[in-house]
Amino acid sequence: MKFELVAKAFDEIEKTSKRVDMTTQLAALFEQTPAEDMKNVIYLLQGRLAPAYENTETGLGEKLVIQAIARATGYTKEDVEKKFKKTGDLGQVASEYLEKKTQQSLIRTTLSVKKVHENFLKLATLTGEGTQELKIKLLAELLNSSTPNEGKFVVRFALGALRLGVGDPTLMDALAHVHLNEFQKENTALVKEIDESTGKKSPEEKIRKIRMKLREQIEAKYNIYSDLGTLAQKLTEKGLKGLNNIDLEPGVPIRPTLAERLPLAKDIIEKLGKCIVESKYDGFRLQVHKKGKDVWIFSRNLENMSDMFPEIVDAAKKQLDCHTCIVEGEALAVNEETQEFFPFQITIQRKRKYDIDEKAKELPLKLFLFDVMSINDKNLMPLPFHERREKLKKLIMKGETIELTNGIITDSSREVDKFFNENVSGGLEGIVCKDLNAPYIAGARKFAWIKLKRSYKGELQDTVDLVIIGFYKGKGKRTEFGLGGLLAAVYDDKADLFKSITRIGTGFSEEMLADLHKLLSKHTLNHKPARVDSDVTPYAWVEPKFVIEVRADEITQSPMHTAGREQGESTGYALRFPRILKRRNDKEPEMATTVREIIKMYQNQKKVKVEEAR
Ligand code: AMP
Repeated sequence: MKFELVAKAFDEIEKTSKRVDMTTQLAALFEQTPAEDMKNVIYLLQGRLAPAYENTETGLGEKLVIQAIARATGYTKEDVEKKFKKTGDLGQVASEYLEKKTQQSLIRTTLSVKKVHENFLKLATLTGEGTQELKIKLLAELLNSSTPNEGKFVVRFALGALRLGVGDPTLMDALAHVHLNEFQKENTALVKEIDESTGKKSPEEKIRKIRMKLREQIEAKYNIYSDLGTLAQKLTEKGLKGLNNIDLEPGVPIRPTLAERLPLAKDIIEKLGKCIVESKYDGFRLQVHKKGKDVWIFSRNLENMSDMFPEIVDAAKKQLDCHTCIVEGEALAVNEETQEFFPFQITIQRKRKYDIDEKAKELPLKLFLFDVMSINDKNLMPLPFHERREKLKKLIMKGETIELTNGIITDSSREVDKFFNENVSGGLEGIVCKDLNAPYIAGARKFAWIKLKRSYKGELQDTVDLVIIGFYKGKGKRTEFGLGGLLAAVYDDKADLFKSITRIGTGFSEEMLADLHKLLSKHTLNHKPARVDSDVTPYAWVEPKFVIEVRADEITQSPMHTAGREQGESTGYALRFPRILKRRNDKEPEMATTVREIIKMYQNQKKVKVEEAR
């Protein structure tokens, strides 16, 4: 497949400001994509070369890219730098210089998707000092046969800044769109049901509903097999049948289940009845896969961390009584002398690329397992949680590193409170209460797990995770940083849109302002991004990609923001006195706090205030 087609689609997607159009454009691209290129097209759209868990880093430095552009276009490095200063986008610079080359008819458009992927893959595997020249050569080679539009995206991809704003849900919607006819033919009863419930008046609504059903099926597979490239390839090769034999596979991470929150033990018992209440450890969430002598460790956002935690790899080999299995838990550093848990600020020191063995000796981790998804290739996810926990207990053999989480079974809110207080005074973060009968719900936040953290009180003391959708120019003292504040959004998972909830101007350190400005400048757009819903217009729009943790005093109703605003109504929700705490690199934008959660937090906040006033 010619890369030209992909670059053309990228160009259209970039200009779109409506999510529906983005889906249609993606579907049209997929229709033209042959099965053998499908994987790579999906990865390119995700801004990657392989699924996230393969850790193939693509980001090249600006300096190197500047040299490659200069070499491919015949301009000097200084020319490129000067133009870059003006436009702020090296993709644009490459495109303009290539345009001049086109006018002199010096370009042959021969670039294929395969070639682009191949060169970037080579680039990604080259490491070390002496490889600089080779990297410039590989990139210049691509630019040499790029049209101006292709060049723009080759450069942006190289820098890790595509600015498309396409998310996995949108990709899945587009895949569903492509296979809609086949799905309708195979599911006539469902189509009839939707037909009847929708009435004849709204054909678009009917199509939307059917597409949603198919997307749910695709998503269910993606949740247990987090490689969208391979899924899309199978769909293209075999149609919907391609999904049938996708199942759990050691080495391919499962998208994690997420916890809901409630403010009081009483509410939790009301919701779950008799449940398992576990200690909530504050460390790294790890998914451990074992297959014979091979062990993989994945982080919460599915990166491969196997090299970072050698003692856990060792322990998995020795302490997990299975040939293959997939388990999940929280790892944290424990003071070996006192057996006390270290706070997260200490555990986080284990997240490093160098001096791993020394740090592992200094701060060994303990892994507290809380779930098991498969044993000896049997998928246990559909089993009720109490059965999985029994199996997990039997799976763990005695040893220094791996243990089962501490927990009790109860239906009394007084006991929940007591357990909570014991845990908090023991230095833990709180508790997680779990539905005894729930299956493992991959990739979703349902009321199977409910957390209660020590910071919950009447006011909004729990933090929220927001997605940056824009920024404001610095005024006064902040002029020098180029950034004075952010516009941030929560995620509406039903509509797959980011809806504005607050502007944030406090909590930033000077370093943070400078870093954010550098980062966000690479991802600005000159129109509202397609998946953003906001009436407030920032100084610059930013592709919804980065998550930040924010603390606020309260959630209020507000006419200004779109979060939680129902159709035809004028108020949504906003945060009062928001302040930024840090960036959450471990979260994808779709893992941010949702509109649903904000509404629930707003209601809880009111309820707790009433309780406290009593
Ligand atoms: P939060 O990050 O505040 O949404 O809380 C959910 C997180 O708590 C999970 O993603 C885990 O990383 C962590 N956690 C700690 N202990 C447990 C436990 N016993 N069960 C489930 N999750 C736990």
